[in-house]
Amino acid sequence: MSSEGVTVTGAEEYPVFESFDDYELDENLLRGIYSYGFEKPSAIQQRGIKPILDGRDTIGQAQSGTGKTATFVIGSLQRINYGERHTQALILAPTRELANQIYKVALALGDYLKVRAHACIGGTSIQEDKDKLRDGQHLVVGTPGRVYDMVNKRHLNVDYLKVFVLDEADELMSRGFKDQIYDIFKCLPPDVQVCLFSATMAPEILDMTTKFMRNAVRILVKKDELTLEGIRQFYVAIEKEEWKVDTLCDLYETLTITQAIIYCNTRRKVDFLQDQLTKRDFTVSCMHADLDQKDNSPGESVLLAEPQNLPEA
Ligand code: AMP
Repeated sequence: MSSEGVTVTGAEEYPVFESFDDYELDENLLRGIYSYGFEKPSAIQQRGIKPILDGRDTIGQAQSGTGKTATFVIGSLQRINYGERHTQALILAPTRELANQIYKVALALGDYLKVRAHACIGGTSIQEDKDKLRDGQHLVVGTPGRVYDMVNKRHLNVDYLKVFVLDEADELMSRGFKDQIYDIFKCLPPDVQVCLFSATMAPEILDMTTKFMRNAVRILVKKDELTLEGIRQFYVAIEKEEWKVDTLCDLYETLTITQAIIYCNTRRKVDFLQDQLTKRDFTVSCMHADLDQKDNSPGESVLLAEPQNLPEA
């Protein structure tokens, strides 16, 4: 991926990094990155990792699918001193699914570093959280409510925190989450590095960032740079609604598809498609807002979902 579509504000001093080898990363982190299958940094990674490594407050604007998770995970993993067990990186995400996904990426990329990481999310055992946190975790990923609870009750000690990341920052800084984020922020060391990542950055959110970020580096990946190399996108125009299921089945016969996520725009459509595909012997799970949290746990090879119920695809 070239870096032509990347706009950088306040970071003209940063070169574009064409290879993961050029960041002077810990050799075990580099092994983790290559073992995970990444060959070269994506546009956001080419510009966004280095300011994080340098301890700069960073704003990264990029859609899902551009590699932003690995940008802040790699940055955070390198900032950790593995000789200490304190929590040094805290990453927040607005949904449990997204927090879990980031946690898994951190475990995978940090495998050779032997990172101690924990996902602190609502809907799971509080006692287990307490035990895991008491054990000492280098990196914690979580949703705001549970993380605040753990910080507030001193189960999560944030005194040694170096980097605080907000993923989907637009969402986290708006509506219900804002107060919780500020409550967490107030407990953090005053010199903590703050990194915000989001697909969108509403002007009022950007305004707000000046209150708690210092001299931030801002990186914007433009729309035409959004897909990673190796991902092809197709658009199939279908004249009649009732031909869609057959077309989907044709695609399955033509392509080798081992796992898929199918997004539908209504819950009714999700249920309808689940029914149709099950009749045709596909193993399908579905996710939507009418289902309980526990039923919204995908385990099958085809997943049908309403977009707002899913983490990034
Ligand atoms: P994200 O935007 O973080 O949700 O990442 C989208 C997808 O791109 C994920 O499946 C990542 O594993 C993958 N990805 C991220 N960075 C790279 C990279 N440098 N090379 C190849 N794939 C990547």
